[in-house]
Amino acid sequence: MPSVTTLRTALIIVLTGLLSLTATVAEAVDGVPPVGGPVVRGFDPPAQKWLSGHRGIDLSAAPGAPVFAVLAGTVSFVGRVGGTPVVVISHGDTRTTYEPVNAEVVVGQELSAGEQIGSATTGHACPGGTCLHLGWLRGQTYLDPSTLFDTGGIRLLPADALATVRQLAADRAAQLSSGSPGLLLQPVGGRIGSGFGMRMHPIFHVWRMHSGVDIGSGCRTPIRAAADGVVVGVSYDSASGHRLTINHGRLGDADLSTIYLHARSYSVHIGQHVKRGQVVGQVGSTGWSTGCHLHLSVRVNGRLVDPARYL
Ligand SMILES: [Zn+2]
Ligand SMILES: [Zn+2]
Repeated sequence: MPSVTTLRTALIIVLTGLLSLTATVAEAVDGVPPVGGPVVRGFDPPAQKWLSGHRGIDLSAAPGAPVFAVLAGTVSFVGRVGGTPVVVISHGDTRTTYEPVNAEVVVGQELSAGEQIGSATTGHACPGGTCLHLGWLRGQTYLDPSTLFDTGGIRLLPADALATVRQLAADRAAQLSSGSPGLLLQPVGGRIGSGFGMRMHPIFHVWRMHSGVDIGSGCRTPIRAAADGVVVGVSYDSASGHRLTINHGRLGDADLSTIYLHARSYSVHIGQHVKRGQVVGQVGSTGWSTGCHLHLSVRVNGRLVDPARYL
C-alpha cells in the first residue's frame, strides 16, 4: 500500500505533467486550481479602497472538500480574520489567500503547487452554495486570481446560468434519492422479501442495517448481471457466502456497482466484462442465510442505496 506522501508526490507529478502539457497550448497557466469546483463569482475590485467590491474569486466548494495551494510557496499566515479562518501563502512578491479553510498547514511550511492546505468549510456565501474565496495580492494591490490557473474551459457563470446549474444539481440529488426504476435488471425473478434499511435480523434477532434487498428464489436459479460492467470482486466469507461485485462505471449519471451475496457459485472471474442479463452464477444459501435467495446491494457514488429504487 503506497503511503500518503507517495500518493501526494505522484499527484503532484501528474498535476505538474498536466500543467506543462496545458502550458504548451494555453498561456499564463502555472498554478493549480485550489478546489475542484467552478468559479461562480469573478474578480470585481472596487475602484476605491473604501468601496465595496469582490477582491478575489469564489470557487464552488462543498464543506470538507480538499483545498490545494495554487502556487508553490511558504505559508505566511494561518488564523482568523474577522472570525473567518484564513490561510495565506507567500510566493516571492505576491501572496495567495484562501478562506474559509480549516487549515492543515503551519506558518513557515513550504508547499508545492497542488499540495493540500486544508479543507473547505462554510462561511463564505456565494451564488449556488458554499464557496472558497481565493485572493491574490502584490503589496496592497489585489490581482485577478483567475489568471493563475486554467479554469478548464469553465467560464464565469452568468447569473441566469447559475439558476440552471442549481436546478441540475437539485435534479441530480432528487434522482439519486428517488432512484431510477429500470436502470438495473432484477438479477433473478421473484419477490423482494426483505428490503433495504433497518430490520430484525432473521438469524441474530437484533435490529441491524440491511444493506440491500433479499430476493426469494429457488436454489440453482441462474443469477443475471444487473447491467453491463466488469467483475471486480469474487470472494467467499462466512457472512456473505459467495460474493460477487460488478462495477458498471458511469450509469444514469452516477458511478454504480452491484453486489451479489449467498450464491451457490459464480461462473465469472475478476476482470471479466459482462453484459446486462448475462448469467453470472447460481442462487444458493451460503454464508449467513436461512434458505436459497439472492441478496443484492447497489452502490451509487460509493454509497449503499435501496436497490428497489433501481429495479
Ligand atoms: Zn468571495
Ligand atoms: Zn440480505
